[in-house]
Amino acid sequence: MAHMFRTRLLATSTAALLILSTGAVRAQDTHDHSNDAQAAVTTTPAAGVTPESLVSPKFGTWGFDVSGMDRSVKPGDDFYRFANGKWAERTEIPADRVRYGSSDTLQALSEARVRAILEDAAAGKLDHPDAAKIATAYAAFMDETRVEALDARPLAPELAMIRKVKTKADFTALMAKSNTTGFTSVMPVQIFLDAKAPDRYVLLASNSGLGLPDRDYYLQANFADKKVKYEAYIARMLTLIGWEKPVENAKAIVAFETRMAEVSMTRVEQRDRDKTYNPMTPAELAAYTPDFDWKTYLAAADLPKADKIIVWTKPAFPKITAIYAATPVDTLKAWQAFHLTDGAAPYLSKRFVDARFEFQGKELAGQKELAPRWKRAARWMDGALGESVGKVYVARYFPPETKAKALALVTNIRDAMRGRIQNLAWMGPTTKAKALEKLDRLGLKIGYPDQWLDYSALEMKPDDLYGNVMRSGVFQWRREVARFDKPVDRTEWGMTPQTVNAYYHLFNIEIAFPAAFLQPPFFDPDADPAVNYGAVGAVIGHEITHGFDDQGRKADARGVLTDWWQPEDDAKFKVQAGRLTAQFDAFEPFPGVKVQGALSLGENIADLGGLKLALDAYHASLKGTPAPVIDGFTGDQRVFLGYAQAWREKAREDFTRRQIATGPHAPSFYRVAGPTRNIQAWYDAWDVKPGDKLYIPPEQRVNIW
Ligand SMILES: [Zn+2]
Repeated sequence: MAHMFRTRLLATSTAALLILSTGAVRAQDTHDHSNDAQAAVTTTPAAGVTPESLVSPKFGTWGFDVSGMDRSVKPGDDFYRFANGKWAERTEIPADRVRYGSSDTLQALSEARVRAILEDAAAGKLDHPDAAKIATAYAAFMDETRVEALDARPLAPELAMIRKVKTKADFTALMAKSNTTGFTSVMPVQIFLDAKAPDRYVLLASNSGLGLPDRDYYLQANFADKKVKYEAYIARMLTLIGWEKPVENAKAIVAFETRMAEVSMTRVEQRDRDKTYNPMTPAELAAYTPDFDWKTYLAAADLPKADKIIVWTKPAFPKITAIYAATPVDTLKAWQAFHLTDGAAPYLSKRFVDARFEFQGKELAGQKELAPRWKRAARWMDGALGESVGKVYVARYFPPETKAKALALVTNIRDAMRGRIQNLAWMGPTTKAKALEKLDRLGLKIGYPDQWLDYSALEMKPDDLYGNVMRSGVFQWRREVARFDKPVDRTEWGMTPQTVNAYYHLFNIEIAFPAAFLQPPFFDPDADPAVNYGAVGAVIGHEITHGFDDQGRKADARGVLTDWWQPEDDAKFKVQAGRLTAQFDAFEPFPGVKVQGALSLGENIADLGGLKLALDAYHASLKGTPAPVIDGFTGDQRVFLGYAQAWREKAREDFTRRQIATGPHAPSFYRVAGPTRNIQAWYDAWDVKPGDKLYIPPEQRVNIW
C-alpha cells in the first residue's frame, strides 16, 4: 500500500521492522463487542456511548474465567482447550472482526473510550488544546453526505499527474513522491535508524509495490484463488475511476507484481539483521542497479541529502529494477492508479469503501461485515491525532497508582531475567557479562509519553477528509525529515496510550506498555497475583526477551548491530533456536499448511522466555511462603491458566492463513501449546506424562533463557 495511507506514529514508516510487538492486536483488525458473558464490554449503540461500555472486563473472582475451561480435556493433551475450551465453544467472532479474544475485548473497550472522547470533542466538552482539531477531523470523517458528494473527486489531482506521464523517467520522478502523496513506489526510500550507529538516522531503501499480503500469495498454489480475486478487484477499482482497459490492465498489473514477487526476498530472509544491513553510497547504488535512474529518483524525492543509503533487500534490487525497466509505461501508470485508489478507498465514497472491503476485508481476512463508520474514524484518528486523544485517555482511564503497580511488576520481571542470565548453565561468563550489561541498560516506558507530540503544524478541514489524510501523512513525513540531522529523541513512543499492545524497540533497547494494555484480563491489580504474572508478567517477559531473541541478540547494550557473543555460546544458542524452529515447523493448522518456525522464531523465543520469567518472578514474590490454593488450583497452575487465558482467541480461517504467511506471530493456539511444553514446571503442575499429546522428553526441550 502507498506509504501515505499508513497512519503511523513512530518516527519511521518502517516501524514494523523496528519494534517487536506482542501481536496482541494488529492494526487492520481491531475489534468490537464481546460475546463473552463474563466480560462487561458491550456494543455501544449508535445513539451514544453508555457508561457501562467503558468499564474493564473482570473474570471470575480471582481474574480467571473458570467457566471457560473444558475439564474433559487432559491438560497434557491440549492445554489450550483445557483452559479455554468452553469459552471457545460459546464465543462467536463478531461480524465486523477477523479474530476475537482477550486482547480484542480490551480493544473494544479502548475503541468505546476513544469514541467517548471524540464525541465530547464534537460536543465542545473536551478540555484540551487540540479539542477543536480533534472535533474537526472526526466530523470530517463522519460526514458521509459530504464524502458521497465528493465521490472520486479527491483523487482527481493525483490521477491527472499519473495521466501526464509520458516516459519512464516521468514515471520514476512521479514514484519518487511516494512519501508526500498517495503514490506508491517499487523502491521506497525512508528515514530509518542506523543499525550500526543507532543514535542517528539514515536513508533506507527497500523494494515494495505488491498489493497482496505476501509474495507467497502470487507464487503458491494454496493462494491461487486469492490471486484470481485480486485481479478482478484491480479491474473493479480501475473501472470505478474510469481507467481505460480495466480487464487487460488488471492482467498486466498482476503479471508485473508476480515477476516482482518471484525475485523478492522472503520474510524469513528479511528478518535477518545482518543480511539486510547493506550501506551503499548513491554512486554505488547506481552502479549496482544500472537499470534504474537513481539520479532522477533521488532528486525528485522529498529526501534529506545523504551520502549513505542502507539497502534492505540488496539481492532483489538488480532484479526488481530490471523488471521495472522492462515494464511498459502504460502498465506502470495503471498500476499506480490502482494502488492510489486502493489506498485512498477508505476515505472515499461508499462504492470505493465497499469494493475495498469486499476484497481486503472479506476475501483476504474472512471479515463478514464492515466495521461501523465511527470505529473506522477512531482508528484513523489514532494515527492522525493519536497522542492528543491519548492524553485525554490517560487522564480519564489511567490512574497514577496503576502506573506505579505496573512499574513494580516490570521491575520484578527484569530482576527475574537477571537471575536467569546469571544461572544459565549453557552460557559462559564473558557472554553473560555482556548480556547483563544490556539488561541493565534496558529502557522502560509505561502508560504514556512524558512529552506529548505537538500537532500545531497539522491542519484539519471539516469538509475535506481525503485532504486531512494527506496532510496528516505529510505532517508525519516532515517530522521524520526534520529529525534527520538531530540526535535520536528517546522520549518518543511507537504506540499511542490507547493501543492494546506492547513492544520492544530493537535500536533504543527499551520496552513499552501503553496504558490501554495495562488492564484486565492482562493486568488487574485486584486479581490473584499468579494470574497477573501469567498474563501481563509473561508479556513483560516476552518484550524483555526480544532483546535476546535470535535477532535482538545481535545488538549490544548500546543497540549497535555487532557480534558480542563468544563463538561457543553463539553455537549453543543456534542449536536451541534450531530445535524451537523445528517444533513450530511441525504445527499444521490446516492440511498442508504449517506454521513457519523460522519466521516466528523471534516471537517464539520471546514467548518461551517470557513465561519462564513470569514463573520466576511469581515465585520470588511469594518470599518463601507457600502459594495459596484457589478453587483447587496451585499457584503454578494459576500462572499457566492466566497465560492461556491471555492468549485465548478465535480467528477466521482466511485471517489465520494470512497470519501464517506473513508472520511474525504464530496463531494464538500455538503460542500456548508451543512454550508450555518446554517448561518443566508445566509438566509438574499438570502431571503431564509420556503418552500425553503435548509431551516432549526433557532432552528435546528448549531452554534458551
Ligand atoms: Zn513479540
